Amino acid sequence: MNQTVKELSSFLSLPQKIIITMHRDPDADALGSSLGWASYLSKKGHEVTVISPTEYAANLRWMVNPDLVLVYEKASEQAKCRKKIQEATLICCLDFSVLSRLKDLGKVVQEAPAPKMMIDHHLEPEYFATWMIWDTNAAATAQLVYQLVKELEDYAPATEIFDVPMAEYLYAGIMTDTGSFRHANVTADVHLAVADLMRTGFDSSRVHRLIYDNAPLSRLQFLGYVLSQKLVVLPKYRTAYMVLTEAELQRFNSSTGETEGIVNYGLQVENVVMSAMFIERKGEIKISFRSVGTFSVRDLASTHFNGGGHKNASGGRSEQSVNETVDYFLSILPTYEQALLSVD
Ligand code: 5GP
Ligand code: MN
Repeated sequence: MNQTVKELSSFLSLPQKIIITMHRDPDADALGSSLGWASYLSKKGHEVTVISPTEYAANLRWMVNPDLVLVYEKASEQAKCRKKIQEATLICCLDFSVLSRLKDLGKVVQEAPAPKMMIDHHLEPEYFATWMIWDTNAAATAQLVYQLVKELEDYAPATEIFDVPMAEYLYAGIMTDTGSFRHANVTADVHLAVADLMRTGFDSSRVHRLIYDNAPLSRLQFLGYVLSQKLVVLPKYRTAYMVLTEAELQRFNSSTGETEGIVNYGLQVENVVMSAMFIERKGEIKISFRSVGTFSVRDLASTHFNGGGHKNASGGRSEQSVNETVDYFLSILPTYEQALLSVD
């Protein structure tokens, strides 16, 4: 056991009031790792509250008992969230490394008296946490939760530690953050963790269906529209991009979850090594980047778009108009031409 885990283990030997929070617009890893960690801590006798900064996507609703997960941006739940955070004796920050990823909740967490712990796999963390379970080589935060729980339980067999819902939460996080086990972040340890979790007997195919084959018809129609009308390919820069305005999103009645993952389609075009998606929502532009191989979209996002993430999957934001943002993106491409062309 390393020092951090030892300290945590001793801290958790007494019952604590624990808050678990995750990045805004939580994906299956943020939510799944949080719920998995929450189940474990609850079983150990702690009082646990999970708080999401914003609403989560519809295809993740099956995971969530709404009585157990509060949403900070909901006016009706904000006061309760603040009270719980003030009273907490531990605040766990999962699947993000900078407090700005909590939106307005960031300040509340920062100012709360409780010690913080981070469980995360994003690059360049802020050092706000007393205990950091932080590993950029981990494919998912859910994988780190799996490892931490195994370590805290002295590597007891999975069937003695994890129940079916816990295994499903963690599997959902690992499955989605690895793009269903096909991204470069898949290691032997990822497969070993999943193999171990599968001993609990949960139905992995069902988890896949619940997340990926559970879309309203409008999502597929929207996807069809984006791919046929909005996908632009720039062969010279091996880049694909899509731009979606607020009006288009409204036309397709698209919620946050319905745009999730669409950026990946750009990489299916032959020879493309970077895909970008610009989404205008509530007066700001949210940008998603994906890449393959050596090309780092994290560097591009952090240098030009107030963002970050991972080498091959990053995001950022812009407060300029859609057109200004896209023009700016196109204007910086020549500086990346060499790096884009040299990807295998
Ligand atoms: P997505 O495109 O799915 O929103 O995000 C892809 C990756 O980039 C995720 O790992 C996410 O954590 C990271 N990311 C997305 N938006 C931001 C951002 O505004 N700031 C930072 N630092 N990372 C982001
Ligand atoms: Mn993650």
